[in-house]
Amino acid sequence: MRAPVHALPPLREVIARHGLAASKALGQNFLLDEQLLDRIAAVPGDLDGQDVLEIGPGPGGLTRALLRAGAHVTAIERDRRCLPALAELGEAFPGQLKVIEGDALEIPLASVMPGPCHIASNLPYNVGTALLIGWLGGQEWPPQWRSLTLMFQREVADRIAAAPDSDAYGRLAILSQWRSHARLAMKVHRSAFTPPPKVMSAIVHLTPAEMPEGIRASRLEALTAAAFGQRRKMLRQSLKSLPGALAALEAVGIDPARRAETLSVDEFLAVARAMDA
Ligand code: SAM
Repeated sequence: MRAPVHALPPLREVIARHGLAASKALGQNFLLDEQLLDRIAAVPGDLDGQDVLEIGPGPGGLTRALLRAGAHVTAIERDRRCLPALAELGEAFPGQLKVIEGDALEIPLASVMPGPCHIASNLPYNVGTALLIGWLGGQEWPPQWRSLTLMFQREVADRIAAAPDSDAYGRLAILSQWRSHARLAMKVHRSAFTPPPKVMSAIVHLTPAEMPEGIRASRLEALTAAAFGQRRKMLRQSLKSLPGALAALEAVGIDPARRAETLSVDEFLAVARAMDA
């Protein structure tokens, strides 16, 4: 663990001194418990000397924990009110923190990170899923990111890590798991945030897995969209209007009377592959 070159003020004091009243429009719910933040920063494993991209550092709670873990952090923050507080934090960890002012949705990963990196974020809920889908959907695989450690609403975290035959299982689980390992790493109570959001949260951790052969991402996206568009219907009904889908089901021996939520990720991959065979 790296010590800052001078003592860090409590986060509450940083927020008060820089006038960082939480903005609802920017999805700001800050984490102030440093022990919790150190536990979150430990989720990706040893970060000493590793490059980490953080989205939405805000007053810098998670950023501090990442810096203490020895990471070299590049942080993208949209709220310019936070920049002076982050500049102070950078002075306490010389050479370890670079802050970029901007909208993470508009900044391609490769334009800010030269090489492999980890991504860690207490995401603004409104942009979280869009960023995740972008990171999961890239052409290049394995991707530039080595791991994603991301805070989501509990319900979204459940959907990312869900197993088949559960209510949470659907498109997001398949898009998250078909070439990544996804797990729910930590539940976070709403009272840990300032101000507390209405719902519970959780950290998910994703790492790239091997790219399955013969799968086009766009094919899998279309297949899961159709299958889960009518999730309570039998596949013979929900896939009726997707050309080639019913023949592919038959070719891989999947009963068209089954419903989408009963198919494993591997079974979806088999259907997608058969559609392109
Ligand atoms: N990481 C801090 C923490 O854990 O206390 C703040 C988390 S707060 C939930 C989300 C942060 O993301 C806010 O600081 C907000 O200004 C920032 N943010 C919101 N939308 C953003 C975007 N599109 N790009 C970059 N940062 C954004």
